[in-house]
Amino acid sequence: MYDYLVVGSGLYGSIFAREATNKGYKVLVIDKRNNVGGNIYTEKVEGINFHKYGAHIFHTNNTEVWNYLQQYAVFNRFTNSPVANYKGELYSLPFNMYTFNKMWGVTTPEEASAKIEEQRKEISGEPQNLEEQAISLVGRDIYEKLIKGYTEKQWGRDCKDLPAFIIKRLPVRLTFDNNYFNALYQGIPIGGYTKMIENILDDIEVRFGEDYLENRDKWNGLAKKVVYTGPIDAFFCYKLGTLEYRSVRFENEVLDIPNFQGNAAMNYTDRETPWTRIIEHKWFEFGKDENGNDLPKTIISREYSSEWKPGDEPYYPVNDEKNGKRYAAYKELADREEKVIFGGRLGEYKYYDMDATVASVLEKCKGELK
Ligand code: UDP
Repeated sequence: MYDYLVVGSGLYGSIFAREATNKGYKVLVIDKRNNVGGNIYTEKVEGINFHKYGAHIFHTNNTEVWNYLQQYAVFNRFTNSPVANYKGELYSLPFNMYTFNKMWGVTTPEEASAKIEEQRKEISGEPQNLEEQAISLVGRDIYEKLIKGYTEKQWGRDCKDLPAFIIKRLPVRLTFDNNYFNALYQGIPIGGYTKMIENILDDIEVRFGEDYLENRDKWNGLAKKVVYTGPIDAFFCYKLGTLEYRSVRFENEVLDIPNFQGNAAMNYTDRETPWTRIIEHKWFEFGKDENGNDLPKTIISREYSSEWKPGDEPYYPVNDEKNGKRYAAYKELADREEKVIFGGRLGEYKYYDMDATVASVLEKCKGELK
């Protein structure tokens, strides 16, 4: 008999398994895929750590979380500085003095803030949706060229129907600083995320190709408690209706050239280009292999955002009002499941970044594991 059955070997499940094991509990991890890591899984292609389920850049202000992960990985000095491509015009992200200079020709912070002030006047009162929030942060020009198209492609919804908080994730700066994140710590685990998860799961039993929901009686019989990191609505057989997710489809290409776009991420912010962004994976590790040699080839992924339907991988919870209410109803059911802990982006239907996932599982462990 196991003390804990952990369903899903992503960041949440793996860390829970590690902490429980360290406390002397007997743990079994199962995953329906044939590899660990959930969506942070990376695999080696042409010597490059390829982020198979989308680019992951670790960043955090949480020292406890950062120190925790240092036990399992050494992080490189990667800093995310995506470039926005609007119909061939290139802009720096996040919104900063380089962006304002290219957009309006302004050269000083004073001129830039005067431009923004003038353009935000059209919004009065508290912004009610993403469009109003964006215009009130950076004005209409930037909204039209760098936000509207990208956001509508990414979420498949009009910016007026999306919550304001999504855009508040992005910094706006009156300095020449292209660092996308306001984070004290940032980087990519050297050797890939898979290696980090393998280090976390070291010596813990993991079974692959196992779908908990297809055979729950068998699995429930094996353990005293279950840590479930899959979609919460699937756990309850969608009985209160489905929660909506956005999914992502990747078109991956290995190119026989050393440098395709000169940056890890290029966002295509116009409405016409069908993909949202192109990731060139080698630049997460400065184009070098583990011995510091330049890599001759490159691998790129075009990212297409789509509405999730059964059979697709769920990526992003759609945290609007309708889904928020539905999740709250599922959460009530979940709270009554005394043997099951629900965790992670899918288990809690939250737009968690990796660091928030780590913080959340560590907090859960403190309460759960005596
Ligand atoms: N966003 C945008 N233009 C960009 C990048 C981001 O309008 O070039 C908006 C978009 O609405 C997106 C949000 O900012 O959903 C948050 O972006 P972030 O990069 O944090 O999303 P993630 O990395 O989670 O995909």
